[in-house]
Amino acid sequence: MIKNKDNPAQAEIPDIQIQKLIAKELDRQRNQIVLIASENYTSMEVMRATGSVLTNKYAEGYPGDRYYEGCQIYDEIEDLAIKRCNELFNSNFCNVQPHSGVQANTAVFLGTLNCNDHILSMNLRDGGHLSHGHKQNLTGKYFEVFTYSVDPETEMIDYENVKKIAWIARPKLIIAGASSYSRIIDYTKFREIADEVGAFLMADIAHVAGLIAGGVHPTSVGIADFTTATTHKTLRGPRGGLIIADKKYSGMINKSVFPGIQGGPLMNTVAAKAVCFNEALQPLFKEYARRVVENSKVLCANLKDRGFRIVSGGTDNHLFLVDLTNMGMTGYEASDTLASAGIILNKNVIPYDTLNPNITSGIRIGTPAATTRGMGVKEMHKIGEFITFALKNREDKTAIADLANRVKKLAQDFPVYADM
Ligand SMILES: *Cc1c(COP(=O)(O)O)cnc(C)c1O
Repeated sequence: MIKNKDNPAQAEIPDIQIQKLIAKELDRQRNQIVLIASENYTSMEVMRATGSVLTNKYAEGYPGDRYYEGCQIYDEIEDLAIKRCNELFNSNFCNVQPHSGVQANTAVFLGTLNCNDHILSMNLRDGGHLSHGHKQNLTGKYFEVFTYSVDPETEMIDYENVKKIAWIARPKLIIAGASSYSRIIDYTKFREIADEVGAFLMADIAHVAGLIAGGVHPTSVGIADFTTATTHKTLRGPRGGLIIADKKYSGMINKSVFPGIQGGPLMNTVAAKAVCFNEALQPLFKEYARRVVENSKVLCANLKDRGFRIVSGGTDNHLFLVDLTNMGMTGYEASDTLASAGIILNKNVIPYDTLNPNITSGIRIGTPAATTRGMGVKEMHKIGEFITFALKNREDKTAIADLANRVKKLAQDFPVYADM
């Protein structure tokens, strides 16, 4: 019998360079504190699926209707992912093949819109996403984009204003959903507006999918015509996307994903999504989602008490924005300083920001990853203290280096991937 090692075609060539880089990255993930609102730590089970032999095969098409032979097991895997996703979100149809959140959105656009149609979405500067109308995104190139802003006083969505703009824009599609909006989104109000002007409604729940699954944010399913999501943010699965809609749109959505915008699905990722949905169906996940929001509120209140201005004055979800204008620094300076102390987050534009997106007036802080580590209220107070200390002492290299040690110690008290 020919063993693998005797078969030159199967010779394993250890890639020391990449192995070393992965080990370094593991070390970074263990020793820094991640407050990036869109990141999380997946389970080992999710990684086992993504790193499996399922990466080897083509499965263009859908369960029972493939363009390649040999897909029986893949059919079972995708059916399981679909069944679990529908159970999790209480839906009757979903497509779990989109490679990412943007792909999920793009499929909905392809299915609902023609060139030059009007869309209405949240202004990027106020929390919207690049795929909702940025001029370099295909939305900006192929559609007429209208945007709504948050109210300049409350910094929250003003639904009356959305309605006013909807009547001017006469959009074919309205998008409800954001990347840096800290308040509950009222999908019912968006539905009323969409019905009034005769538009489709797409809820992009990329950020809050896990909160919806965990029952701590109202759902868009059954309200919006289309719900798109990522699986890697609060949902804590592999990098990927999904689309939920009523069964009556199943043909249109399936065609739009494949062959509309994608070829073969990443079936290793689809299996990992099934794992993630199963995890999110467990009672423990509800507790996780509750703690994510609790931690976010605690850290937000802590920083507010220390004199930071919080955009919209607080948070209802897993993230919030800090306006640094009154602290005499930019978002760029703040995120850069915090990174040298081992606290990883991102600079972010705030509503009506006058600085460009590379500089920004604010930072975005999110708690999904820290909560996965097991951090709670006590640690949020500590992190609030760390952030304040770093920003107040940002010129003092020794102080920042000292802080980096305390940050590392805190991270190590809440280990991730301890068994790897
Ligand atoms: C993160 C995000 C996406 C994009 O997801 P990718 O997986 O990076 O393509 C889409 N919409 C919103 C609102 C997001 O926050």
